[in-house]
Amino acid sequence: MGAPDKLIGGSFFSLLFTKQKFGVIIKIQTYVLFKKGVNVVLERDNIVMHIDVNSAFLSWQAAYNRQMGMEEDIREIPAVIGGSEERRHGIVLAKSIPAKKLGVKTGESLMEARQKCPNLKVIPPSYDVYTRASRKLRDLLAEYAPKIDVFSIDECFMDFSGTRDLFGDPEELAHRIRKRIKKEFGYTVNIGISTNKLLAKQASEFEKPDKVHTLYPEEIQEKLWPLPVGELFMVGYRTVPKLNQLNIYTIGELANTDRELISGLLKSHGRLIHDYAWGKDASKFSEKSSMPFKGVGNGSTIHFDVEDRLTAHKILLSLVETASKRLRDEDMSCRVVAVGIKNKDFGYHSHQRKIPVFTNCTHDLFEIIRELFDETWDGSPIRHMNVRFTDLERTKFKQLNFFQNEYSMKMEKLDMAIDGIREKYGKYAVIRAEYIDSGLSPVLGGYPNDEYPDMSSIL
Ligand SMILES: [Mg+2]
Repeated sequence: MGAPDKLIGGSFFSLLFTKQKFGVIIKIQTYVLFKKGVNVVLERDNIVMHIDVNSAFLSWQAAYNRQMGMEEDIREIPAVIGGSEERRHGIVLAKSIPAKKLGVKTGESLMEARQKCPNLKVIPPSYDVYTRASRKLRDLLAEYAPKIDVFSIDECFMDFSGTRDLFGDPEELAHRIRKRIKKEFGYTVNIGISTNKLLAKQASEFEKPDKVHTLYPEEIQEKLWPLPVGELFMVGYRTVPKLNQLNIYTIGELANTDRELISGLLKSHGRLIHDYAWGKDASKFSEKSSMPFKGVGNGSTIHFDVEDRLTAHKILLSLVETASKRLRDEDMSCRVVAVGIKNKDFGYHSHQRKIPVFTNCTHDLFEIIRELFDETWDGSPIRHMNVRFTDLERTKFKQLNFFQNEYSMKMEKLDMAIDGIREKYGKYAVIRAEYIDSGLSPVLGGYPNDEYPDMSSIL
């Protein structure tokens, strides 16, 4: 569990000046005693907060629609953000509260959702909007927290350890952040406060929306233990029945079951969730918290079999368009480029290359992707393709590249101009001529979770 509470009465430090004058070393030592008032304040060493956007995609879409002047608030009607209904992947990505009340669930097919709610409004996702909203949120949080770890597109951990002098009471601070997000961005969040990441995350899961909750170690028994065991982080739907067989239904029952028994049943995963039930989590904030991305990937399952090289190139270009823009949105450039191809019998081939210079230019990245594809493809019908850019570096620290030719510099300027137009007027406002009447989407791509390296079992 977190570090012990600390009593603070005053602090003490020394300044040491060393000065050499006329060959004689003069040392001046100054002692300063800060007095922090008469009352002794009980202060914790570690304060961690977890912030979670309530129904993120739907909230961001609603806030965006309002900014665009639309009257209807999709949060107040049965509505979902969902993939294309005609194509293969039509699932509910996020739902409004009225849709939830009608039984609509995240992850179910749009067809199932429609059966429960015939007048359901289905809005296709605008990943560009969500990426920007996520980045804006992180920028705002960075004004407060010295360290931020991104957990997923709509969840961050913030380390406030040792900042009480700066920000005061953590709960009041969390409410200030919550209210500011609501006022400036127009959507709601939940914030959980504790002494480690696990407990902060569990706290943000309590009653939603627009709430701040604490779950300090001394509150575990009262607030965490009565909950169903499936609500504990890392206890998935496959683990729940196994625990139920041992008569474990609540988190408290898991905590109070013999550790060896759980370990015998579920091995290291069992030991992990047993620790979690006691609120034990030793995960640290990453040192590179300013760089949340390890890589950007983009892939698409195609709704027909691709059998010719030119069509494949066009689809790859549309994937690169989205993925390279995402790099530019994050001020990142990459040095490792990879392509993956799945054929209709689900055979998978991938190929990657390290390039001499960091880039985020659509044109340059596509040239490499096309070469890699041509070297890899055996001519069999293709079902799925993906591109991936890794080994990232902040673009603003990019060294001047003397080898870059004039054409590629022009292409970078073109990227900036196209990005600007697409942000303002939508992603189809400018498209490449080869896509006209091709039946292909000129800009493809979703927002796969694997872009976030921390979106895994490890906090
Ligand atoms: Mg969320």
